[in-house]
Amino acid sequence: MIDLNKITTVIFTHLHYDHIGNFDLFPNSAFYASEEEIDSLEADRKGTILNKDIEDKFRIKLRKLAESIGPLEVIKSPGHTKGSVCFWYTFFSKKKKGRTDLPTSAPDEMGATLMRLLDYNPQIIASGHDY
Ligand SMILES: [Zn+2]
Repeated sequence: MIDLNKITTVIFTHLHYDHIGNFDLFPNSAFYASEEEIDSLEADRKGTILNKDIEDKFRIKLRKLAESIGPLEVIKSPGHTKGSVCFWYTFFSKKKKGRTDLPTSAPDEMGATLMRLLDYNPQIIASGHDY
């Protein structure tokens, strides 16, 4: 069972009531939403949240999402709301392309390998390590 007190990051795809209503289950978490969604909330709480009860209790500090957060790439996806976002889980982050400093590593081949893997249009890639 997950100890919700240990959750440190909660990311909202958008701020409708059915996506934020349980925010208070995470007392030790930082909360993130897109800048556009935060702007909508500040301009029109009622129209952004769409539920009076949640609107009344949703009084937390929201942090603006950057281009990525942890291993997740943030993809702006306006439509449902103008600040909606989706996430792309990258098995290698933009900063890390996989560890290639081991005795049998082939760092010169890593880039081509990653591009070849993308040709498979993967739905899920489970890397051998978390780096
Ligand atoms: Zn919605």
